[in-house]
Amino acid sequence: MGVRGMNTELDHIGIAVREIESALVAYREALGLSLDAIETVPEQGVKVAMLALGPAHIELLEPTDPDGPVGKFLAARGEGIHHISLSVPDLPAALAAARAAGLRLIDETPRTGAGGKLIAFLHPKSTHGVLIELSQRGEPRS
Ligand code: ZN
Repeated sequence: MGVRGMNTELDHIGIAVREIESALVAYREALGLSLDAIETVPEQGVKVAMLALGPAHIELLEPTDPDGPVGKFLAARGEGIHHISLSVPDLPAALAAARAAGLRLIDETPRTGAGGKLIAFLHPKSTHGVLIELSQRGEPRS
């Protein structure tokens, strides 16, 4: 049973890749997704390419720092799905619901992610092996 009024939607799927340029051969040229933007997020040690996939996106994550979260993920597990991002209209309420359900939160309070959105991560140990990013819908891009 879901939390009433939460209206959770798929925002994007984050994929860790060694090189965005070569990943675009598969995701843009072969699969036909259109590239929205590429940006660097120095705080996360990552370069990010957003490709439109219907109302959602595929987010390609290339590490710029081997000691950042994506750099460490690639070294340990290789390329592949890194996280799934779900958007909610009220992120603090969603975090409170996750906490009330006994889930382990990586971020106890929302922080600013790529594109200036408010985000928070849930620990994959609580979500059956998948790193879940919650993001607040309707936040203006900075
Ligand atoms: Zn993401």
